[in-house]
Amino acid sequence: MKVSLAKPVLGKEEEVAIKKVLASGMLAQGSVVAEFEKKFANFCRVKYAIAVNSGTAALHCAIHACGIGKGDEVITTPFSFISTANSILMQGATPVFADIDPLTFNIDPQEIEKKITKRTKAILPVDLYGQIYDIEAVNKIAKRHNLKIIEDACQAHGAKFKSRKAATFGNVGCFSFYATKNMTTGEGGMVVTNSKQYSDLVRKFRHHGQQIGSRYQYSDLGFNYRMTNIAAAIGLEQLKRVDGFNKKRIKNAAKLTEGLRDIKGIVTPLVKKNYKHVFHQYTIRVTNEFKMTRDELLQYLKDKNIASAVFYPNPLHLSPHLRKLGRYTKQNFPVAENASKQVLSIPVHPLLTKKHMDYIIDVISKI
Ligand SMILES: *Cc1c(COP(=O)(O)O)cnc(C)c1O
Repeated sequence: MKVSLAKPVLGKEEEVAIKKVLASGMLAQGSVVAEFEKKFANFCRVKYAIAVNSGTAALHCAIHACGIGKGDEVITTPFSFISTANSILMQGATPVFADIDPLTFNIDPQEIEKKITKRTKAILPVDLYGQIYDIEAVNKIAKRHNLKIIEDACQAHGAKFKSRKAATFGNVGCFSFYATKNMTTGEGGMVVTNSKQYSDLVRKFRHHGQQIGSRYQYSDLGFNYRMTNIAAAIGLEQLKRVDGFNKKRIKNAAKLTEGLRDIKGIVTPLVKKNYKHVFHQYTIRVTNEFKMTRDELLQYLKDKNIASAVFYPNPLHLSPHLRKLGRYTKQNFPVAENASKQVLSIPVHPLLTKKHMDYIIDVISKI
């Protein structure tokens, strides 16, 4: 048996939808993108959704819309994908890291509090692996210090806290539709907000800073962050099915937890009360009590044809271009650094069957 770590679920529906766009001859941003935006806004239950061509572009647009620029500080997690921090740098602002909670791997509210200065403008929490950040604590801090919140929900399409969806807990939320995410458009992204002002700013920013509705009138610096109709056509089909994909991920995760939770040295993922975790990744912690190191386990699984990966092996503050800020060295964020040595993401995607799950559990249990 061969078990892959990620595989997009694509079918006849996507094929038909793409062909329709090709036949129309309208390939770039157009009516299909507009329809995708409308339906995605409904999915998140927000007023505005603005499609862009990557999750990174979505983050850049969101940070711009919040008015963040040179001299400003944005507090974020060192345990994420690099574009979380890079998008802050793209606006000339400074990413200020705060360590994570060892149980959820998300930013630790108490650590945020310590990092607030006069220059702090916003908090950028990430819904890592598919579970939303600690909303109640983080949002309270933001309110008390008058900070904006930009939610990186790139791994959390359809995740919830109580009845509310991911990306709707701050001023602006961001999604990625990269091929391995819970839903895909190949490459793509989305900004969601309830603010008309932010929505307009993002629309301009993704389209060269042109005034909406009047071409070649430039009011500000902008980029080409537009999504194509081809990508949006895939997105519309994926959106119809994402709840089903998530249901399958949650079911697979439950099966893995049932089979792995009693193994000494393996810590299975925590699902917090009132939170709907959509398991973009199913990430275990391999501690010193396990019979192998994390890296040995990764290699062992590979030999058994089970793919796994480390998200993320290098905490962001240790990457050379962020070290250059002169703020960070090793040991600054012990919880994130320890997590990077212990985490391992194993297969959970919707195309896996009970047989695959049983095989993974069997292989790990027999070690
Ligand atoms: C995927 C991802 C991004 C970036 O999305 P792209 O579409 O690859 O640009 C940003 N943040 C997180 C947490 C992600 O997982």
